[in-house]
Amino acid sequence: MWSRSVRQKKGIVFVLSGPSGSGKTTLAQALLQDKKFSGKLEKSVSFTTRPRRRGEKDRRDYIFITEQEFRRGLEAQKILEWTRYLGYYYGTARDFVDSRLENLRSLVLCLDLKGAARIKELYPKNSTTIFIMPPSLEELARRIENRHRETSREEIGKRLRLAKQEMARAKDFDFCVVNGDLTRAVKELKRIIVKKIT
Ligand code: 5GP
Repeated sequence: MWSRSVRQKKGIVFVLSGPSGSGKTTLAQALLQDKKFSGKLEKSVSFTTRPRRRGEKDRRDYIFITEQEFRRGLEAQKILEWTRYLGYYYGTARDFVDSRLENLRSLVLCLDLKGAARIKELYPKNSTTIFIMPPSLEELARRIENRHRETSREEIGKRLRLAKQEMARAKDFDFCVVNGDLTRAVKELKRIIVKKIT
């Protein structure tokens, strides 16, 4: 009884992970637009040292900081988990996550695979990890090329090579959702989340 009541005092961390271009962010945005989740589910905004892309907004998409600021954040333990992805640092803000969970709110985090594993370690009972699988490697290549028009061919190639390795690890996740048709993928995700928080 006691452990059950302790569990109910926390929100749940839903981690969407998967290769760059699998559509994690689009799916997270679609989830948050659903009124069922309003006041219950929020998307965490990570720190990053990578340059801002066209259309991205500071504090909405990421908190864009310098490498020196990132290091200071790590030293001050302000970063819950972090990764280095293709030369840039990315990290989850500890305060943001803690304050939401304490207030019974649940969170969506879009992370690389290392981040997903770390969250599972930190919140074994209060986290659900979901792998977002692209429908095929060809489609993934097309999406990455479209999204990264201003990115070099070399970086696109790196993202694709990494994607292949990542797709082999989908089995380590609590759920796997194929993002071929967006409407269908959103529906499937909602089904997973609704069972846990409403
Ligand atoms: P992008 O440069 O495409 O925005 O992000 C690169 C990768 O870093 C993506 O897989 C994204 O989900 C992941 N990522 C973004 N923020 C974080 C974070 O705070 N922690 C971890 N571990 N990964 C992150």
